[in-house]
Amino acid sequence: MGMVKQTRILFDPGDIEQMRLCCGHCGGDASYPFSQTFKVPARCPHCLADWWDDRPGMKLTEAEAHAINLARAIHYFLNPRNCEALKTVGFGIQLEINDEQTPDPPQTP
Ligand SMILES: [Zn+2]
Repeated sequence: MGMVKQTRILFDPGDIEQMRLCCGHCGGDASYPFSQTFKVPARCPHCLADWWDDRPGMKLTEAEAHAINLARAIHYFLNPRNCEALKTVGFGIQLEINDEQTPDPPQTP
């Protein structure tokens, strides 16, 4: 049986200042402070590759819709203005990270 090390990382939302979106095409990124209004851009601000299709009538893929909603939710959750509103929600969200450390294999002389 191996040894398992568990680490719990807790952060104060106030310690996180902005969210960064990374382009899947060029690798460039753009940061969005939580204090400002936010909308996931339809294209990369660097290479202009489409991040999603914003033409009228075009449907998002399921993954695009979830990614956009996740970014919006994170931005809403971490905006200091929304602290009071979030207290009215009956649950909080925690993410568990598996950071099991496997011991190094024995060294062969
Ligand atoms: Zn790009």
